[in-house]
Amino acid sequence: MKVQNFINGEFKPAISGRLIENRNPSNGQMYGSLPDSDKSDVEEAFLAAEAAFPAWSNTPSEERFKILNAIAEGIDSLREELALAESIDQGKPLWLAKSEMIRASQNFRFFATAAMQFSSESHASENTSINYTLRSPIGVVGCISPWNLPLYLFTWKVAPALAAGNCVVAKPSEFTPVTASMLANICIAAKLPSGVLNIVQGLGSSAGEAIVSHPKIKAISFTGGTDTGKNIASIAAPMFKKISLELGGKNPTIIFADSDLEKAIKTTVKSSFMNQGEICLCGSRVFVERPVYERVKQSLLEAVNAMKVGDPLHENTQVGAIVSKQHFDKVLAHIALAKKEGATVLCGGESVEPEGFALGWYIKPTILEGLPPNCRTNKEEIFGPVISIAPFDTEDEVLAMANNTEYGLAATLWTENLSRAHKMAQQLETGIVWINCWLLRDLRTPFGGVKSSGLGREGGWEAMRFFTEAKNVCVAL
Ligand code: NDP
Repeated sequence: MKVQNFINGEFKPAISGRLIENRNPSNGQMYGSLPDSDKSDVEEAFLAAEAAFPAWSNTPSEERFKILNAIAEGIDSLREELALAESIDQGKPLWLAKSEMIRASQNFRFFATAAMQFSSESHASENTSINYTLRSPIGVVGCISPWNLPLYLFTWKVAPALAAGNCVVAKPSEFTPVTASMLANICIAAKLPSGVLNIVQGLGSSAGEAIVSHPKIKAISFTGGTDTGKNIASIAAPMFKKISLELGGKNPTIIFADSDLEKAIKTTVKSSFMNQGEICLCGSRVFVERPVYERVKQSLLEAVNAMKVGDPLHENTQVGAIVSKQHFDKVLAHIALAKKEGATVLCGGESVEPEGFALGWYIKPTILEGLPPNCRTNKEEIFGPVISIAPFDTEDEVLAMANNTEYGLAATLWTENLSRAHKMAQQLETGIVWINCWLLRDLRTPFGGVKSSGLGREGGWEAMRFFTEAKNVCVAL
């Protein structure tokens, strides 16, 4: 499949004509290509977006609602094709890709209604003045998304940016370019005016950085790794751009003895290994209260050993392929490091070659035990099917262990003790705390991390506020 850029409503190659090969993670084979775009393609996309901005920003919100809603419907009607493309491109199980396509259309549907309902505040000061806030679209904004949940995260950024009246230059990951390109066709069918959404494909180091450093692209919404986020911040900060950074995580899962253990164990299998552990919200450090430690460990092992690793398109597959050779090598290097740091590998710990897919990039779901809290394995994000497990004795001890990382994205807490749950939710240094659940999302809630997991929040009004500029108008009475 030959993916192209989508600029000013047209599909086109990179101006340089250069291509990047695209490989299928399930079998390691090259099966397509994408444009290796650079600064000149980004400039062309920017000019298209800039030209489209006056009309789009003045389009009545009801009209924007209709178009964004039509895009949501377009995604729904192409759900099977999109899911298949995503599974082949990314390596995730097809059943999971299908559920992610539901979320991709929800993103558009949700922000379509936000376009209609977004309002700003007014403040009356007794007898002296009335202030009101004007919220205007920013102009041309940049959206850069990663490879783990490709269309799901691409739409999570693009939909609110468009709903708020901006025009967009967006870049999906070089590893997963296909579904964003399919979305372009859906946007044409939904009558999104040309130039409102422009998709520039290519490498982060060239196309991505060109978006970030473009002097007239005034806001950047980025989801990806913490190091990339630091680099983006260092470029954008001196230019006083608005930035929203959704970065990495090293999320704790905490299981108390009083929890509904059956549910906690079942969900922990998912929260650890869904999408091959390539979800920023996956729990990668599992802490279990000592009286139930052995029981939880054995149940996890039983469940994880039974997980089927293999062909992403097979309906029984639970763990698909790792997205790229580069990432596959990185995850295996982390497992090797863990062993050096003293880990006992309770299960997995190696790559696997499913029958018929010998050249694909598969890693068995891995559980590590016996690691010291301060080792690199317990501190660095692996972003693969690898977790460590450890016992704890007291609330204070587990809280200290959970917070002992530079990351602060999400935490999952299992307990039936109401006051402990609320108390710990306050003390956990993360942007999100799930109590007795995982990945239960309400799109109105603020989404994002603290510490090195990011800057700013997306979701609901937070996203609409990020993608608008506020102006205070003060009228004397
Ligand atoms: P990267 O940071 O490598 O890449 C993310 C995106 O940024 C890609 O489109 C990438 O392009 C692009 N990019 C890379 N370098 C630059 C640059 N210098 N300037 C501008 N853009 C650049 O992350 P991954 O794709 O590897 O995604 C995995 C990471 O994303 C994990 O750390 C994960 O935790 C995080 N993540 C965070 C989430 C959150 O909500 N907090 C959600 C999902 C993932 P290219 O593909 O060419 O490298």
